[in-house]
Amino acid sequence: MTETAREPVLIFLFGATGDLARRKLYSALYRLYTRDQEFAVIGLARRTHTDETYRDLINDSLPSEVGQRKHFLERFYYRRLDITRPESFASLSTFCEELDARYHLHGNRIFYLSLAPCFFAEAAKQLKKSGLAETKGWKRLVIEKPFGHNKESSKELNDSLLHAFNENEIYRIDHYLGKEMVQNIEVLRFANPIFEAIWNRRYISNVQITLSETLGVGDRANYYDQTGALLDMVQNHIMQLLTLVAMEPPVRLETNDVRYEKVKVLKAVRPMNIHNVTEQIVRGQYSRGIDANRERLRGYLDENNIRSDSETETFVAAQFMIDNYRWQGVPFYIRTGKRMSEKATQIVIQFKKLPKNPYFHNVNHVGPNLLVIYISPDEGLSLKLNVKETGETGNTIPISMKFRNNALAMENMQDAYERLIADCIKGDSTNFTRWDEVAYSWEIVDSIVDSWKKRHVPVDYYEAGSMGPVSADELLEKNGHHWWPLMHME
Ligand code: NAP
Repeated sequence: MTETAREPVLIFLFGATGDLARRKLYSALYRLYTRDQEFAVIGLARRTHTDETYRDLINDSLPSEVGQRKHFLERFYYRRLDITRPESFASLSTFCEELDARYHLHGNRIFYLSLAPCFFAEAAKQLKKSGLAETKGWKRLVIEKPFGHNKESSKELNDSLLHAFNENEIYRIDHYLGKEMVQNIEVLRFANPIFEAIWNRRYISNVQITLSETLGVGDRANYYDQTGALLDMVQNHIMQLLTLVAMEPPVRLETNDVRYEKVKVLKAVRPMNIHNVTEQIVRGQYSRGIDANRERLRGYLDENNIRSDSETETFVAAQFMIDNYRWQGVPFYIRTGKRMSEKATQIVIQFKKLPKNPYFHNVNHVGPNLLVIYISPDEGLSLKLNVKETGETGNTIPISMKFRNNALAMENMQDAYERLIADCIKGDSTNFTRWDEVAYSWEIVDSIVDSWKKRHVPVDYYEAGSMGPVSADELLEKNGHHWWPLMHME
């Protein structure tokens, strides 16, 4: 890792007028600014803006409680640029040198591509061609998801980026890796011998990863209908969570050591084939339903801009098996979907049951120990244990020991994008995905897509506002398991 903490930088923000920039990136940059990060930003997109109207747009995207806006906004500049018109790049050179000198940025440059993926390769090509990627300082390319739509296209994209940037200059964002409790998984596992000692097939019965959304497809219909839940959520976020739970302890907590261990997990995930795909994966699509407030919800096929015969999955549940010494035989269940009853990201580690034990007349009434990692919206941990019920009944009752990130700490806590941009400025790519991680996770997903196609696997419908199709429950029931209901810190 090249440590360049607190170095000033010029950020080229491609897609400066877009949803991601307005909802996440400007407030992340504001928080970095309040932490004394020196930077200037050139916002780039096709729409017409002056520096002033661009600053108004940023101002409107900041949360209302934000103070000291004036000095912050003054470091933002807007230039019109169309990725498909190479001449728009040429005019940037002089301007960026001017900003370099004005803000003493030492030629350090981040090119943040908050653009539709079809523009990633062209943007990198034009950055090289125009000479903008030639600088006396360091340069880094931040790239949003999705990184390709299968292994082949992701390799093509990667090859084209490598013409302009080295692998260690490419920061592939998976914003889940910037989340507080996701970063806590490694600490929980590797700083607590009591967990590491039992973190294996001898003591763990199964692992359940849920990433549920209540929203429907909304205004992302065009993108989503061609993508689906498998590519949108499983290939990236879910695979990343799975690797963090399953990886071996790295030799050092350094970028390449951590990434190396994550890749080993992906290599060990058993690929799907036409024989196991229907037994181990469920494809779902929401139909009409009602939400928690008893409001009616449209089915996916009734959503705007969705083909009336669309077979795109809005839900996936799967059982992954990891063929290595630590995890042989332990199912990793994952589920993700839109229009589910609750929005949450959490991981449940279910420990094995007691063996027959003379101290308990009815072992079946003693529930399993559960370690729950709450990633969002709650952030914390809970550990479910059995204790004696007070009095003389002789019964056991479950209790939960909880740790919750406290409200004050959470208010001051960096959000995922802020943390990841700060890491990028420092040159720390640990929490970004390396090319081989992307490639292996595409191999897994490609094996599923391929088998679905060959077997013509249809979608199973589930009511909007539910936790998915019945087949997702059956997936676990055949192994004697069940989904734990989403849990809460309160
Ligand atoms: P968006 O709202 O559609 O914004 C796209 C941006 O690209 C706009 O600023 C648009 O501005 C600009 N643009 C479009 N065509 C262009 C061209 N030919 N040349 C230059 N600029 C062009 O998309 P988004 O939601 O912000 O997403 C951006 C990226 O982040 C995507 O890769 C997406 O998958 C990823 N992402 C988004 C979210 C999210 O919550 N939004 C979350 C995770 C990842 P003009 O129309 O003015 O050119």
